Amino acid sequence: MRSGMEYDIFMPYPGVPSARVDGVDECRRKVREVLRAGADVIKICATAAYSAQPTTLSSPSFPPKNWKSLCAADYRLGKKVMAHAQGAQGIKNAVRAGIHSIEHGIFLDDEAIELMLKHGTFLVPTLLAPLAVLEAGEKGGMPEYGVRKAREVVEIHSDSISRAMKAGVKISMGTDAGVMPHGTNLRELGLMVNIGMNPMDSIVASTRVAAECLGWQDRIGTLEAGKLADLIVVKTNPLQNIRSLENPDNIVLVIKDGKIMKDIRKTMS
Ligand SMILES: [Zn+2]
Repeated sequence: MRSGMEYDIFMPYPGVPSARVDGVDECRRKVREVLRAGADVIKICATAAYSAQPTTLSSPSFPPKNWKSLCAADYRLGKKVMAHAQGAQGIKNAVRAGIHSIEHGIFLDDEAIELMLKHGTFLVPTLLAPLAVLEAGEKGGMPEYGVRKAREVVEIHSDSISRAMKAGVKISMGTDAGVMPHGTNLRELGLMVNIGMNPMDSIVASTRVAAECLGWQDRIGTLEAGKLADLIVVKTNPLQNIRSLENPDNIVLVIKDGKIMKDIRKTMS
């Protein structure tokens, strides 16, 4: 969901309601419309994006008064409200209104970090997003202005996430698959470790904390009786090299929903 600015971030998608809104009443109506269409979560663009040409990544999408109506509990039937948010002002507007999670958090200042700690807001770093934009640019799959914005923020983004991490903000690994293919978010673990996260914490961010961010902690996220048995067994210790998880040959056993999907233990000497 995004504001009534003159630019579009996303192309229309068949079966998905138009997500452009303007003003408090439209925000309320749109939340209900998106839920009627079957949304599991309400996702809001709190700031602009790489793909929105006339903006900087910091441009806030909504004035503070709209945020209360977008996050109001009585309009969202218990569903979580999450925000693609890059600039500090948009992040703070969203956090103050009670947003559940901030995706990106590129320009976090001290006040934004304090607010996230106070409200218990999740942070989904998506460190892969600017790198994926740069990689897409090399193949000619991203306009020059998108590549330029990504190049400008790679270091700023890493620094923001590193400061939030040290301050104790809840970090959940996740994807922003608008700019990279689904299934590539495993790279996030290596990127989080690169900026100072403990390897075990990067695994916990991808399992327990990610499950809590989704509100699925009763089903997934930890190995406990009664939860779905989704797990992998690897040959080498990922705490010594987190990127070893990226090598499919290193994965000897995959169990999904209690069923064995891959098992090469017998072929191992
Ligand atoms: Zn995003």
